[in-house]
Amino acid sequence: MLIPTRRTAEGLDADDSLGKFRERFLLSEEILYLDGNSLGALPRATVDRLDKVITQEWGRDLIRSWNVNGWLDLPRQVGGKIARLVGAAPHEILVADSTSVNLFKLLAGALGIRPDRRVILSESDNFPTDLYIAQGLIQLLGKHHRLRTEPAGQIAEAIDGETAVVLLTQVNYRTGALHDMASLTTHARAHGALVLWDLAHSTGVLPVDLARCGVELAVGCGYKYLNGGPGAPAFLYVAEALQEELRTPLSGWLGHVDPFAFEADYRPAPGLGRFLCGTPGILGLAALECGVDLALEANIDQVRWKSMALGDFFIALVEEAGLDLALVSPRDARHRGSQVCFRHPHGHALMQAAIARGLLGDFRAPDILRFGFAPLYNRFVDIWEAVAILGEVMEAAN
Ligand SMILES: *Cc1c(COP(=O)(O)O)cnc(C)c1O
Repeated sequence: MLIPTRRTAEGLDADDSLGKFRERFLLSEEILYLDGNSLGALPRATVDRLDKVITQEWGRDLIRSWNVNGWLDLPRQVGGKIARLVGAAPHEILVADSTSVNLFKLLAGALGIRPDRRVILSESDNFPTDLYIAQGLIQLLGKHHRLRTEPAGQIAEAIDGETAVVLLTQVNYRTGALHDMASLTTHARAHGALVLWDLAHSTGVLPVDLARCGVELAVGCGYKYLNGGPGAPAFLYVAEALQEELRTPLSGWLGHVDPFAFEADYRPAPGLGRFLCGTPGILGLAALECGVDLALEANIDQVRWKSMALGDFFIALVEEAGLDLALVSPRDARHRGSQVCFRHPHGHALMQAAIARGLLGDFRAPDILRFGFAPLYNRFVDIWEAVAILGEVMEAAN
């Protein structure tokens, strides 16, 4: 195979039907940003939208904005838009709180409807918050439950009649390995277990079809591929069939059936509304809506195709250049999310040197260099330059 040149990369960009999306983001040409899976870039539309929400809606209309500017509807409105990205019905997704808090609410609700089962089953290498939230909940419930973790390949066989909930992240945050959502969900349901999927590294970058996979519960993150901004509100999904049954442990006033009656006793709102808990952060919701609108403009199959191509290109360049980096992510793009990771004993120092040269990726302990690809704004030329910088910092380190 010929070593791809910068011209090869430019040619790929020229043919890229998603190329036009890059100018919709405010990005410095001084940096190569391969970290959109930690914090997505800033859509230009968000700047104007926040200016309007702050100066007109908050500044001028004040409290009237809850009604006249539709603030009260935003959690459902933005949720309904996210639903289109993940194959859910609009009334099955609500934007609220953080991913961690939504995990807590849904996990507690799930245990409540599987009272005779004691095990939360997860992946040993799941993102820490998912495991920590399960541990904290078990503590709170008096330690009658148990968190069991298994390596990715052994989850399916570990599901049995004791399993209350299978708690999985679709794309592994470290390696980028992609679970088979359809088959794991079917398998778990056949054993009477619920599955709670964390879509943090999937939403906006992979075609997800919750309805077709028979998924009952999910959560997802607003600030990664949805470009909602730092600490953007997260979302939660409860399939319609479960909505009346599932209770939230965070019985806040906005999840009450009639919040403005200010009754003394809690009664849950029908449907998903009970999961609202307290007053939503409107600035965050408004920013998230801009990111979601942008994601909805793009064809998700094209996004997936480009995401896989960017990853393949990155791996090919690293290997053609003979860089001493060990691939950790699945080589087959069909089994990978939108990131590629390599292992190197001096990974931390290498990433620091790369960042100093303007290449922003992530280091994940103990020795992983992680590069995320956001198809709406990353170009093939960015990949080419990133690998050139990696080559330079590795040579300098020798
Ligand atoms: C990013 C991420 C989160 C984020 O949780 P926060 O509550 O927003 O900090 C949760 N789970 C996974 C798998 C993630 O990758």
